[in-house]
Amino acid sequence: MSTHFKFDVIIIGSGAAGLSAALHLPATLKVAVLAKMPSEQPSSYWAQGGISAVLEPEDSIDQHTVDTIEAGAGLCDESIVRFCAGAGKQSIEWLADLGMPFTRDRQEISDSGFHLTREGGHSRRRVVHAADATGRALQETLQAHVLERDNIRVFNHHIAIDLIHQQQKCVGLYALNRQDQHVDVFKGRKIILATGGAAKVYLYTSNPDGSTGDGIAMAWRAGCRVANMEFIQFHPTCLYHPEAKSFLITEAIRGEGGKLLLPDGERFMQRFDERTELAPRDIVARAIDHEMKRLGSDCVYLDISYKSSAFIKSHFPTIYRRCLEYDIDITRQPIPVVPAAHYTCGGVMVDIDGRTDLENLYAVGEVAYTGLHGANRMASNSLLECLVFAQAAADKIATEIDTAETLPLLERWDESQVTDSDEDIVVAHNWDELRRFMWDYVGIVRTNKRLERALHRTELLKSEINEYYGNYKVSPDLLELRNLVVVAELIIRSALARKESRGLHFTLDYPDTSDNYQSATILDPGQLKQKPAKLASI
Ligand SMILES: Cc1cc2nc3c(=O)[nH]c(=O)nc-3n(C[C@H](O)[C@H](O)[C@H](O)COP(=O)(O)OP(=O)(O)OC[C@H]3O[C@@H](n4cnc5c(N)ncnc54)[C@H](O)[C@@H]3O)c2cc1C
Repeated sequence: MSTHFKFDVIIIGSGAAGLSAALHLPATLKVAVLAKMPSEQPSSYWAQGGISAVLEPEDSIDQHTVDTIEAGAGLCDESIVRFCAGAGKQSIEWLADLGMPFTRDRQEISDSGFHLTREGGHSRRRVVHAADATGRALQETLQAHVLERDNIRVFNHHIAIDLIHQQQKCVGLYALNRQDQHVDVFKGRKIILATGGAAKVYLYTSNPDGSTGDGIAMAWRAGCRVANMEFIQFHPTCLYHPEAKSFLITEAIRGEGGKLLLPDGERFMQRFDERTELAPRDIVARAIDHEMKRLGSDCVYLDISYKSSAFIKSHFPTIYRRCLEYDIDITRQPIPVVPAAHYTCGGVMVDIDGRTDLENLYAVGEVAYTGLHGANRMASNSLLECLVFAQAAADKIATEIDTAETLPLLERWDESQVTDSDEDIVVAHNWDELRRFMWDYVGIVRTNKRLERALHRTELLKSEINEYYGNYKVSPDLLELRNLVVVAELIIRSALARKESRGLHFTLDYPDTSDNYQSATILDPGQLKQKPAKLASI
């Protein structure tokens, strides 16, 4: 049976952004948190490095701002960067008060008491962490507190389908209950999208299965603008093995002298950058991509086996064990690796309080475009963004919400015209096709020709998927595919619109950065609808 629920605030997503927002909301509000993957942890859980924040006297908000803007290749919104950097200390202290087990340092080394590491792009040590499993500690801390709160109800088996909006206001959403397969109606005064990124649109990704860009697609369908979708961050080295999903091979292996090799054993990074394997992430990822495309090979190799077995086992115990599960002994043989989609810099456009274009709809975390990352994300700034904007949105909601306001009646989900699908193969095939052509045509190195080809394919897929969606009962795979094809189109159209190479966007047609560049690539659903579907320029 389909059920109608009513809450003051409905949060879609239970990663760091969603759970932090829930905890920052006043305990007087009735809050629902929806999570679509009961058996799988979100991206937040897998974060290894940590969270950036200015915590030491020799560091400063100015310096964090300068570093972020430099990494963002000139496209960051300085006021947002400053706001985020300025709020970092308080966010870390909030987490510490909740009991987050940060790795501590001796007082004579660090004033703050936290152990700080330094990561790429940061000119200071400013990354707090919980050993090498910061995300797990963060999720467990937030989850424990959410469970203690009487005003928060977590729906672990609900996948949001679409937002419901009336007269330019968001008033609720439909969600598929994966347990009984019914579509429930959630009515809410305020809705927060905290659905994470969209890296699953690519064949290879470091993200868990849930990163299918649902929030971006739902907001787009509801009329919200999205920005900077061309900037997808690729991690250079993910384990390549048919059974190994999303396993990152840390950059520390290259830091310790690991060499990148072609299938015939030749080293190649010296042809791309004088820093060879230690060049920045995007350069290494681009070089690997170039060589794989040139040779038509499935992967390249990362070799650390010339170091002693004892050294490898003590420095990289997790990677050693994990690779051994796939019969790869990294003390004796090179590791097959591919670059993998890692982070979605663009997303739903929001203001400094996380508000989208649609009244009552907010977006926080990786789903949102705040202006913080610009054309490239600086390491460990993303969890900071989750925390800071979750609080900003919660604070805004606390001042704006009117719990006495009568909510409109919402229609139930109509399934009278649809039947059970007998052609699941169509969905499976389209999933595979979409992720493969996104990888081949819209990946790390782009050209106009390949982007146009990919756009053409999204048009074909979209009509097939929409027809399927109109005729059959919804399933999680179909819902995600329907969202992925929207995200794919947004990435392609944004990439076509940027006539230069900048940050994470590299195109052979415009290999240089341009002085006459657009600051953000903004796509507006209203404007796009008026154009012929196959016209590439925005
Ligand atoms: C391997 C890895 C390592 C990383 N390391 C770091 C790091 O060290 N530091 C750093 O700052 N960042 C790091 N990042 C990036 C960072 O982890 C993410 O940007 C951040 O966790 C995103 O948090 P989020 O809450 O926005 O989304 P997520 O944590 O991805 O959570 C999204 C949630 O939304 C739910 N959801 C999605 N769609 C729906 C739907 N339709 N209905 C219901 N629920 C839905 C999902 O199930 C999930 O619960 C890393 C990412 C990865 C993948």
